Amino acid sequence: MPHDTPLIATIVAGLTLAFVFGAVAHRLKAPPLVGYLLAGVAVGPFTPGYVADQALASELAEIGVILLMFGVGLHFSLKDLLSVRAIAVPGAIVQIAVATLFGVLLAYVIGWPLGAGLVLGLALSVASTVVLLRAIQERHLMDTDRGRIAVGWLIVEDLAMVMALVLLPALAPLLGGSTEGMAPDPVAAYLGLGLPGILALTLVKVALFLVFMLVIGRRFIPWVLHWVAHTGSRELFRLSVLALALSVAFGAAKLFGVSLALGAFFAGMILSESALSQRAAQESLPLRDAFAVLFFVSVGMLFDPGSIVRDPWPMLATVFIIIVVKSAAAYVIVRAFRHPASTALTISASLAQIGEFSFILAELGVALKLLPSEGRDLILAGAIISILLNPVIFAIVDRINKREEDEEEAAAAASTAADAASRPAPVPAQPPPPKPPKRSEKTGHIVLVGYGRVGSLVGQDLLASGESFVAIEASDDAVALLQKSGVEAFSGNAAAGEVLKSANIAQAASVIIAIPEAFEAGQVVEQARQANPGIRIIARAHSDDEVNHLTDLGADTVIMGEREIARGMLEEFTSWRQKNRTQ
Ligand code: AMP
Repeated sequence: MPHDTPLIATIVAGLTLAFVFGAVAHRLKAPPLVGYLLAGVAVGPFTPGYVADQALASELAEIGVILLMFGVGLHFSLKDLLSVRAIAVPGAIVQIAVATLFGVLLAYVIGWPLGAGLVLGLALSVASTVVLLRAIQERHLMDTDRGRIAVGWLIVEDLAMVMALVLLPALAPLLGGSTEGMAPDPVAAYLGLGLPGILALTLVKVALFLVFMLVIGRRFIPWVLHWVAHTGSRELFRLSVLALALSVAFGAAKLFGVSLALGAFFAGMILSESALSQRAAQESLPLRDAFAVLFFVSVGMLFDPGSIVRDPWPMLATVFIIIVVKSAAAYVIVRAFRHPASTALTISASLAQIGEFSFILAELGVALKLLPSEGRDLILAGAIISILLNPVIFAIVDRINKREEDEEEAAAAASTAADAASRPAPVPAQPPPPKPPKRSEKTGHIVLVGYGRVGSLVGQDLLASGESFVAIEASDDAVALLQKSGVEAFSGNAAAGEVLKSANIAQAASVIIAIPEAFEAGQVVEQARQANPGIRIIARAHSDDEVNHLTDLGADTVIMGEREIARGMLEEFTSWRQKNRTQ
């Protein structure tokens, strides 16, 4: 190479290796996240071979953190949180308290000071949004009680961690840490403030930031987005979302001294109030994913696998806290609130892992000299192992729940039979909640893929004519609406084979693919044809190339949107012309 380009080398190595490791992880049925972390370990200083630039990687990772937190803010829904607050708030608080207590205990046994224990415990107490949402979505639990409780619970944990991120720097000196490596607060230095003063100043700054965002941000941000959306340029819109997220986060850090993470969280939260939020979320997804990957890679780079081999006991204790202690606490709380055991088990399983927030806390803890770097290694090892084990735990929970349900059903059947013989069956106190179907039982039906502008028109007509169909939609909100109106609908990417299977594609008569993206539509066509050679496939396209692509893959009919528009316009014109001529 003619000159040294460490930034490019870091991005290229990070993304490429993350892709390779992520793909391998996916093949092995592990979450890709584990692959990204291992890619980081591979380019990190503790393993032989190429070593990426750590300072650059961690700076790139900051952008990942900003975008991740922006996403968390976007998904934050006050309404959802309020609907489950009765259990989510006490549940999250007790679970955080228990995990932190055990973190402090573990630190005490190892011989670390209280501050290290607190950071360790807090980091172990918060689950990963990425991992939890994926687990819940895969099991179609998003619209069930247990799904909502788990998500609400996680939001409360996230909020508590946001507070911890803000307060830790102020509290660090008290806990035996130091803010030496960090930029001193000019106001605090000028006023010569002591610890209580600095703490108060931090809270004042956060309050100022909140007021600023609620008064000015809340008007300004939607206004900018609205204006950009009206320019009609997708490119500008995508850019505006990114620019807003990054500049609010950066401004929050520079002007108000609050963390980048909190700033981004608020930018996202404000966006989520406006009608454009759904679009904003989708527009920021690809970039967020790319930088989030770099974040996980850079976290992996800090991991010293040797530390685990040298001393495995603290690591085993860490995993024990994440998986057993936290789950037990969650189970007891959910049961105490008189929810069924199956709900308690699902919630425990979804929270029995740690992820991105723990890494952010660990980083801060190390920077503040509160947490020794071995503590960060423990947190990283705990995250990798608990994320890997999460699907296994879920499988066990699913099996237990299934057995209990079968037993209950058998018992219910037996008791109804006995009751029928003697006296009328007692009315159950509470009807069991409807279980979301794992797979459609329809046959000879239509599978309708995509329920947007095109799909919903098709769907309404099918409904009106009494045709039986199953919808597949990527947007959870749309699926929830459909299910509410009694339509059988599955959420997810139809290009992922599992989703098509749940719509029982193998026994369907026809599939109507009403999604705009030809690449994904092609995947659907291919899999549908493979699973059901006789199925009638009707697909949607926007160019001749796309029509050819979909036909080649096995679509029977491909309707090109633009051609239909032209046809409609011509028809309109011709009839108008004829009318005018005859007059
Ligand atoms: P429209 O272009 O308005 O007809 O919207 C297309 C709809 O298809 C949107 O509601 C998307 O959420 C949905 N969609 C797009 N891609 C997929 C996919 N791969 N799987 C399922 N739904 C999808």
